[in-house]
Amino acid sequence: MEQRLEYRIFTYSAYLRKKYGRKVFRVGLSTGIPCPHREQTGGCIFCNAETFTGEYQSKGLTIEQQLADAVPRTKESCGDVKLLAYFQDDTSTAGNIDFLRKKFTEALSHPDIIGLVVSTRPDYINSEVVKILNSFEVPVTVEIGLQSIHDSSLRFLNRGHNFQQVDKAIQLCGKADLNVGVHLIIGIPGETFDDVLETIQYISANKYIKQVKLHNLVVYKNTKLAEITKKWKIPTLQIPKYIEILANLLPHLRGDIVVTRLFTSNVRRSQIAQGDFVGNKTKWMNELRKYIYKNNIVQGSETEIELDFREYYDL
Ligand code: SF4
Repeated sequence: MEQRLEYRIFTYSAYLRKKYGRKVFRVGLSTGIPCPHREQTGGCIFCNAETFTGEYQSKGLTIEQQLADAVPRTKESCGDVKLLAYFQDDTSTAGNIDFLRKKFTEALSHPDIIGLVVSTRPDYINSEVVKILNSFEVPVTVEIGLQSIHDSSLRFLNRGHNFQQVDKAIQLCGKADLNVGVHLIIGIPGETFDDVLETIQYISANKYIKQVKLHNLVVYKNTKLAEITKKWKIPTLQIPKYIEILANLLPHLRGDIVVTRLFTSNVRRSQIAQGDFVGNKTKWMNELRKYIYKNNIVQGSETEIELDFREYYDL
């Protein structure tokens, strides 16, 4: 049988195909509100807003203008696809409730948009936000920055929230039947494999979590993290080791959890302070695929739900 990552990992593209029965892509949008945590405290030590993918916030474009720019470009490269409005950068639930309702409604009124994805911090999720998100008739996913279940790591990253707050936000969204995803960083200085494994085990045991977005920690220029790693000569995780760790975590990740990202993407050489994270993502995926097949790894094999790819593919 052909060796494909999708046969061993529940990928986002497989999930979208299963859910919508057609090709669906995300289009990145911005509410225009800068992250309050960054504005008020300097932000997470790894964050460099200049590396965010959309430049809509800095350009001050309305949602209509953002869509007029992004939709034709996406269709040109991906064909006749339907789209999910993805409020990805910054903290997308920061701001006045009426303002947020207006922004999300504006995005959903575009004929090609068939769903909403909102990325945010746990301390910017409350019952009012959940109520708005729940009021839309399209599928809504809330991506919450978890990063780690270890408070010492969250403090090191200057996340400005603790694990308990993340857990509470996940429950609030999950109980309201919103689709919940979490963001996770692998390679936080001081964390061992077992520390990350504990975070993965928490994710697998949490019935509300349906998606996980994995990131290798990237040391961007002009960040506190770049200063600290240089000053204390802290090495960052390199890609081969990241692949090994990631692959060995996968058996512990419930098989029905969608992996929406496997590597931090869109990293430009000019942006990084140290590490080898610039490169050919296709090559890394290929290395991961080879490692997984060589070691006979399947997502979820150490959990109650093992990935069953036949559910997602017509073979
Ligand atoms: S919460 Fe997100 S946008 Fe805000 S500082 Fe942290 S990483 Fe940056």
